[in-house]
Amino acid sequence: MTSKAKTTVTFYNGLTTIGGPMIEVAYKQSHLLFDLGEVYRPELELPDESYHTLIKNQLIGDVPDFYDPALTGKEIDTGRWQHAAAYISHLHLDHSKALNLLAPTIPLYAGPITAQMLPALNEDGTFLLPAANHAKNYTRPIIAAELRQPLRVGDITFTVWPSDHDAYGATGLIVETPDKKIAFTGDIRLHGYHPDWVHQFLAAAKGCDMLIIEGTGVSWPEEKHDDQSEEFTGPKNERELTAAIVDLQRDNPERQITFNTYPTNVERLLRIISDSPRKVALHAQRAHLLKESLAKDYPYYYLPGEKIFSDLKPELAIPYQELLQDDHKYLWQAVANFTDLQPGGLYIHSNAEPLGEFDPAYQPFVAQFADKKIEFKALRCSGHADEKELKEIISEVEPAILAPVHTLYPELEENPFGERILPERGQTVTL
Ligand SMILES: [Zn+2]
Repeated sequence: MTSKAKTTVTFYNGLTTIGGPMIEVAYKQSHLLFDLGEVYRPELELPDESYHTLIKNQLIGDVPDFYDPALTGKEIDTGRWQHAAAYISHLHLDHSKALNLLAPTIPLYAGPITAQMLPALNEDGTFLLPAANHAKNYTRPIIAAELRQPLRVGDITFTVWPSDHDAYGATGLIVETPDKKIAFTGDIRLHGYHPDWVHQFLAAAKGCDMLIIEGTGVSWPEEKHDDQSEEFTGPKNERELTAAIVDLQRDNPERQITFNTYPTNVERLLRIISDSPRKVALHAQRAHLLKESLAKDYPYYYLPGEKIFSDLKPELAIPYQELLQDDHKYLWQAVANFTDLQPGGLYIHSNAEPLGEFDPAYQPFVAQFADKKIEFKALRCSGHADEKELKEIISEVEPAILAPVHTLYPELEENPFGERILPERGQTVTL
């Protein structure tokens, strides 16, 4: 006898935007939600980031029976849903910022690094949205999922797989109901430090009934060949990027060299530290983040007047003045006071903030280096699969149904192995 129960997938948010996917898989009285981010749209200039404002502006999904009743004013229907869980794929804000809005009674899972780093990133309450009835810097419990080990929520089994993205500890997800298998890539690429992990995840997803795939890399078709164009001579992958930073140090033995990276791209920073011929000094804030989340100690400095972190070892502190005068010993992370740097020096901007041309802060930021006769060098590497890699990912999985999300042009991703759907916001697909 076949059961009449069906597996459903509901696409609540993050479909034709970059980021903010919120998707629910349900079977009988069990359901699982992933991810819990907020769509990034600063141009809306919202008056606040309250639950109702975010719902009204579609920055989070209007997902029933998952959010904290203290925010929604509606009780969770525990008669309908006896088993509920949520998962976040990685620590970027468009996948994690709304995690405190999840009902406290529903367990939240993430890969171990994500689970460990989020409370540290939110230590001063500026990273995540606040939870109801808690201090601003509260981070709700996140269960560190054992990688590659099946977890259960009622009739649903889900497995967290290590993957690769420019967020440290990024993971992908495989969800199994009694008769269907669904894979969710999270954010993914094949040109990072761990393509082997990605291939293992894709092999485990092979032949699934539905592959929910991100498509950031096909969001700007007019710039499709950007990475191959004549003017693009930058690194093609993370290894080349680290090597380029090492080469710049070797080629400039007597020159002040500074750099900056994005806080959540921890692995790039760790590689820069381990591979650099110069001693790498971090701004104290960043050293503190690594100490808090990974229990690792690195040389650091304070800008004048900054608060002291009690967990940083005093013997690793380097005086700021020593860094300002240095031209050969240090590669150090510059985060402010750029006009104090030496004329003729080199600053490497490696996907640090401001991130790029789309940010109005970017041009003035770059211009200040020219004014001071400091060379500004942007060394970037994308966290996302490009068009070619997306095709490769799809062909490794051969899904029955492909559901592209997290892209401005989902129609640019195709499925030679079966159906391709373009889900509408709020649409439920029955498998
Ligand atoms: Zn991401």
